[in-house]
Amino acid sequence: MEGARSVGSVAEAAATTAEQGSRFRRICVFCGSQCGKKPSYQEAAIELGKELVNSGIDLVYGGGSIGLMGLVSHAVHDGGRHVLGVIPKSLMLKELTGGPVGEVREVSDMHERKAEMARQADAFVALPGGYGTLEELLEVITWAQLGIHKKPVGLLNVDGFYNSLLSFIDMAVEEGFISQAARRIIISAHSAKELMRKLEEYIPEYESKLVWDTTEQKPLSFAPEPESGVAS
Ligand code: AMP
Repeated sequence: MEGARSVGSVAEAAATTAEQGSRFRRICVFCGSQCGKKPSYQEAAIELGKELVNSGIDLVYGGGSIGLMGLVSHAVHDGGRHVLGVIPKSLMLKELTGGPVGEVREVSDMHERKAEMARQADAFVALPGGYGTLEELLEVITWAQLGIHKKPVGLLNVDGFYNSLLSFIDMAVEEGFISQAARRIIISAHSAKELMRKLEEYIPEYESKLVWDTTEQKPLSFAPEPESGVAS
């Protein structure tokens, strides 16, 4: 399962990205339905939204306008990029999710929501958050490990918020539960700009061996695709 990384291909990928704009059309952001205590969490959500706008990337997320979810979605929407919120019917109540931002797609349950968000995205980014964020993040990491998708998974480690999670994962590597290659699925950075650069350069090490009807199997390409070809 573990494949060798080619330094040449990383450099080529980075050069191609710089010449042709982002390789991503739409990124899925997982983040807290709360704002968190430190202003830096909120600043990072807005910074990430602006970074997506600057790179011409659309957003898919859990819908609604509360907490960091609201900040990142407003930043992308206000910047003129498309925002797709995927939300289960049971969470549609305004007091649970806040008002809608951009296009809202209603789904039947939480499982369908995650599958739809994964299907619609070319990459994933997690900002600070709670149980929901962790669950969504760990699921897409697990799917990458299984070869269900090859989409990059980024962790925005704002003010070291995820240091203890990363330490736990490193301990699990030491203890033989996670392979070194699987550890490298997680791309982390302290700023949105640095994280986006790393995601653009990411070369997946896993073969797509499984066919999963909830995610697309088409490998990412470094060449930009036509506007009409939005991931489905
Ligand atoms: P949490 O980190 O526990 O605040 O959960 C946030 C994540 O779970 C988001 O990425 C959403 O996809 C989902 N989520 C949890 N609560 C809500 C909510 N009230 N409205 C919309 N999505 C939510």
